[in-house]
Amino acid sequence: MNVREAAARAVDEAQQVIFSQGPSLPERTSKVAATAAADAEAVDREARFPKAAFDVAREQKLLGIMIPVDFGGHSASIYDVTDVCYALGRACTSTAMIYAMHQTKVACIVRHGRGTPWLETMMRHVANDQWLLASSTTEGHNGGNIRSSAAAVGHSTDRISLLRDATVISYGAEADGLVTTARRADDAVSSDQVLLALARQDYSLRRTQGWETLGMRGTCSSGFELKVDCPADRVFPESYEKIHVQTMMPFAHLTWSSAWAGAAAAAVERAHRFIRKAARSSGGQMPPAAAHFTAAKRSLAKLRAVINANMDAFARHEHDERVLSSLDFQSSINLLKVEASELAVQTVMSAMRACGLSGYRNDGEFTIGRHLRDVLSAPIMINNDRILASVATATLMSSVPVSLRDE
Ligand SMILES: Cc1cc2nc3c(=O)[nH]c(=O)nc-3n(C[C@H](O)[C@H](O)[C@H](O)COP(=O)(O)OP(=O)(O)OC[C@H]3O[C@@H](n4cnc5c(N)ncnc54)[C@H](O)[C@@H]3O)c2cc1C
Repeated sequence: MNVREAAARAVDEAQQVIFSQGPSLPERTSKVAATAAADAEAVDREARFPKAAFDVAREQKLLGIMIPVDFGGHSASIYDVTDVCYALGRACTSTAMIYAMHQTKVACIVRHGRGTPWLETMMRHVANDQWLLASSTTEGHNGGNIRSSAAAVGHSTDRISLLRDATVISYGAEADGLVTTARRADDAVSSDQVLLALARQDYSLRRTQGWETLGMRGTCSSGFELKVDCPADRVFPESYEKIHVQTMMPFAHLTWSSAWAGAAAAAVERAHRFIRKAARSSGGQMPPAAAHFTAAKRSLAKLRAVINANMDAFARHEHDERVLSSLDFQSSINLLKVEASELAVQTVMSAMRACGLSGYRNDGEFTIGRHLRDVLSAPIMINNDRILASVATATLMSSVPVSLRDE
């Protein structure tokens, strides 16, 4: 069986398990997407959390799909989750990105939480109570340097504390729980990090900064002082270094890229409708900007291909620590984020050029403004320049493939 066949079989098997009763995953997803699409403009204009879409997502049990069946979920695969991200991205990028960030945190709990009573309790809450989990990695002026933490966990007998300058926590005010990185202890170096999974009663948030941004306005990614005081069992037993390499980064990059690809696809759909309408009204003659539509379709195809190639590579080795930690896999999954974010911007920009003034206007059926503003966040959400600088040495150390198909 080749990789494609194996991947297709994995998807088929997952679809059979997922929601064996009631509507299928795609049916449930389209209900959420329809609500998200109807609310997208108001969410963007008012910079508010897409509550209506998440109410439906909870009703449709979409928040807990990745939780294993024995903890009340549906054991969804990476293919299922990224399909949802893409579908939501076509409707509302903020909704898709919130879903993507939530699922990245859920993946950490699912893949590193089995056998740890508190993390198993969190799994049950996500599956049964549809808890929404936020993420805190950005701290102070440290930018997107996820592998470094300033605030340290304070330890007393059976409790821990943490005081963190969390510069950005998307939907922090709306979430039922939070997953945060932290320095292991006062005497640990900044890269010696742990991951904490917290329920709402374990922490308090004091807003320190708003979220008045160009795009992604519905993620409501305000800054907070995060104050934690909770039982000591909230700390993952494995080091963050390991979780980062095996789970956090692969899931973040695959789900984010899928959300951006969805936004790019929505812009291409608008350009498609525009070009057809323009051609029809001029007796079948293509408008001069039609070449930009072709460019948009080409870059969308590349974007989908690069996501799928990385997803297949991840799915093939998802339980193989050695492969996931290898230079080749790490460089590739890091570069996926860079490549996907640049292609998403390029695709939406080409779609806008194809639509001309109709795309540039903020009103009308062909407006691309929101998509462009949203997708411009992609290259800076963990800045591409930072990623490129950090993978430079690894790229130099990995060999150049000698044949077309070999890994
Ligand atoms: C839509 C969106 C949602 C996000 N959601 C979350 C989230 O839920 N949780 C989370 O933890 N992070 C979140 N982030 C932040 C993200 O993870 C990265 O930390 C961020 O995108 C890095 O941006 P940057 O370009 O400023 O940082 P980098 O390019 O990584 O670094 C910028 C550098 O500039 C300097 N610098 C930055 N700001 C200042 C300043 N004010 N004064 C002086 N020097 C400064 C620092 O040296 C810093 O290292 C989100 C980002 C986006 C775009």
